[in-house]
This record gives sequence, structure tokens and C-alpha cells, in this order.
Amino acid sequence: MNGPAESGGPGDPGGNGREPGVTLTAAMAAVHGARHLREYTRDPFLGFFNGRSGDELIAEGSLLDHPNVRRWFELFDAGLAESLYTYQLPLSTASGPSSAVLGEPLIMFSSYSYLGLIGHPRIARAVKEAVDRYGTSTGGVRLLTGTLELHHELEHELAQFLGQEGAATFASGYDANIAAITSLFGPNDVAILDQYAHQSIHDGVRMAGCENRRFKHNDMDDLERRLRQARNRGAERILVAVDSVFSMDGDQAPIADIVALKRKYGAFLLVDEAHALGAIGRTGRGVCEEQNIDPSDIDILTGSLSKGIPSSGGFVAGSRGLKIYIQHGSAPYMFSAAMTPANAAASLESLRILQEEPEHMERLRRNTATLKNGLTELGFDTGASTTPVLPLLLGDEWRAYRVAREMLERGIFVSAVVYPAVSPGQARLRLCATAAHEPAHFERLFTALAECEHAMEVAGVR
Ligand code: PMP
Repeated sequence: MNGPAESGGPGDPGGNGREPGVTLTAAMAAVHGARHLREYTRDPFLGFFNGRSGDELIAEGSLLDHPNVRRWFELFDAGLAESLYTYQLPLSTASGPSSAVLGEPLIMFSSYSYLGLIGHPRIARAVKEAVDRYGTSTGGVRLLTGTLELHHELEHELAQFLGQEGAATFASGYDANIAAITSLFGPNDVAILDQYAHQSIHDGVRMAGCENRRFKHNDMDDLERRLRQARNRGAERILVAVDSVFSMDGDQAPIADIVALKRKYGAFLLVDEAHALGAIGRTGRGVCEEQNIDPSDIDILTGSLSKGIPSSGGFVAGSRGLKIYIQHGSAPYMFSAAMTPANAAASLESLRILQEEPEHMERLRRNTATLKNGLTELGFDTGASTTPVLPLLLGDEWRAYRVAREMLERGIFVSAVVYPAVSPGQARLRLCATAAHEPAHFERLFTALAECEHAMEVAGVR
């Protein structure tokens, strides 16, 4: 059995120069019994369902006798019969345009690795050096014993890159939003969130116990109405929170308008840059660069280091005072292990590459245009996207499952996104351009989509 092939550098022909490991690793074969991708989509849970319905599997009064469990099991019952399970496909290689699943080569078109830097030799080298020096774990939380010199370097360079005074890093972008919101807002405050703001923002607000209000997506009149209501009701503090790039639609929040409103009503603004860092702005600095915003107009800037930046982690950036407080007053900083040495090193080296190798952002821009134009020529509705995230709107969730499965059959790995990630009836394939895609990948994608037309017509999509 072969293991995954060594990764090459980005920009190599064939997508990051990676030769997909086209045979299963020995370990995976042991788990999955050398199973095939097609078998996986029919029976991903190794015979657990085996044609049995939720009712047969869930004993009354048992732990799993819960409406949410029943909903999922019913969905599996119906979907597996049609071989429609395309989630959690186990990659056999590093994630990139030329990936492989259970040993079968697939072209990836739903990865968040916008810069296509996974497998970049400089990053791999930096990670190896960090593991040699610091080992595999920090052995503690940031506040106590888990802080490395590497974290300081990363936070310093990240803040500079973003044009903010300071940044604090976390093990994930999810943690970063929870940290910022729960440490600064409470039950006497009102949070006004874009209805499509990321789940971690909604969860943070729930945990903080603020009154939770939503405004219609990107609708400034509705935001102003909510701000006025909050002021009239005597809210102590008001938080407005949005994603700068909405990950399901690929559109952007109108930050200048939101800044004007938050000033008018004396509110504070949190902007989540998870899908903007290393994705938009001429040099990948995100929405401030893209929309010409002064970074100091944003009170709290949060983001992820697991998308454009090919690591795992998150950050809260803003004033120096904010950084210092977040390091002492936020639960994830005090009660959850620090970002690992490997992740900190990968984040830091990626930031340096982003600044030293502008070609990645240039390729991302070109590839985004190629993807958008190709989809438009094929007659697909890509909504209001202005970023590398391009939704292919399908409506019904079963259509999305079926089209994703049809695409897999044609060697293309794309994600079907359904409720609760999007509103009911708004199911879609979410495609992402990356800097590492080559013209041949787009040709394969467009051909597969055209071939799927028949299946889509059958499903009543077009
Ligand atoms: N914010 C947004 C807008 C996201 O899309 C995500 C991840 N999908 C996160 C935060 C969480 O980031 P992470 O994956 O680093 O936890």
C-alpha cells in the first residue's frame, strides 16, 4: 500500500505538484476494508444503518430518542438508499485541487484553502522546525504555561499585517468569536447580527446572554431600525456583528455603511474576517484593504487561520487594550489549550509568504474570474458573490445532495450545503476558487457541470 505522495510546491502543474496517492493507505484499508468511494456514499457508517430506519435503531426513552437524532437518522435512511452521502469523505492526500478520496483521484472545488498554500515547502519546513524546537504541544493554556515565543512573533506580525494595534490568537476562529463576544458583552447588552453571520457569532451572543436581534442580510435600513429600537429600549451597550465575506454566498458586508451607523448609534462593531484574510484585498489583507476602510474603525476584528492561511487557529485583533484584556478576560484564552507550535509556525510562515509572494493573490483573482465566468456561461446563478466563494444555487436540499453525488461520479469533489448552514429551501453547491487551480481543473469542472445538466433537469433544477 502506498502512503500519500510527497507534496510539491504551489504553482506546479497538476495542482500543487501533488501526485494523489491513488491507493488506500494501509491504515485506511484496515478501517474501511479497502472500500471504494462508491461504497462509501452508500454505506459510510460500516453497516450501522443497513436498511434499518431510525425507528428501528432508536429505542424509546434511550439517549438517542431525541427529535434531532431522529431527523438525522431519517435523512440517512432515505439518502443512503440512493448512495447520496458525500460528507466526511476521507482524503488520502493533502487537500488541494488534485486530491484523492479512499484512493480515488478527485478534483477539489470546495476547499477554503484560497491561497492554495497547503503543502507549500516553506510552510512544511517551518512546521518541522517548530516541532523540533517546541515539540507537539504547548502543554498548557495561553495565560499560564502555554505561551511560546512563536505566539508572540505571530501575533506581532499578524497585527501589523492587519493594520491593528494588537492581536491575540486562539486554537480556532470559532474560539476567537466566542472569546471576543462573551468577554465584552452581557445580559444588559443588545447584539444585532446580520442574519447570515457565522454560527460562532450567534453562539457567542447566546453564551454572553445578550438580547439577540438579527437584521436582514446586508440590509442597512433594517440594521438602522434595529439600532434605533435598541437605543429606545435603553440597551447598555450595543454590539453589531457581521462577517466581512459571507461564507455561504461569497458576498461582502457594506462595512463603510455599517461603520457610519454604528457611530451614529454609539454601537460597537465586530467584523469576522475568516473568509477575507488571504482571499480579498489586493494583498490579501481582507475587507479593510478591499473596501478602503480605516482598520481603526472596526472595534473588534476576528478571523480564522485555517482558510486562506493554511493552518488551524483564530485571532481577535484591535486596540492594544483590547488585546491585553482578551488575554485575561476571555474564557478560551484561560481554559483551552494554546494553538500548537506547528499551527503557530504554519500561520506565521504563511503570513510571510503572503507578503513576499504576491503571485498567490494574483492567481486567486484570475481563478476567481475564471470560475465565475465559466459558471455564468453555463447559465448558473451565482448570486451576489464578489469573492472566491461562488454558490451554485439549487434550492431543494435533495437536489443539492444529488448534484454533489453526480459531480463526485465525474471526479469532482464539491460540497452540498443545506439547512442549517443555509436557510431551508436555499440549498446549494458551494464552489471555491483557489490560487492552486489550473486551467485543466476548470475545464474538468465545467464539463462535469454540463454533463450534470441532464441530472439537474431530471431533478427539476433548470
Ligand atoms: N467565522 C466564519 C465566518 C467561518 O466561516 C468560520 C469557519 N467556517 C469560522 C468563523 C470558524 O473558524 P475556524 O474554522 O477557524 O474555527
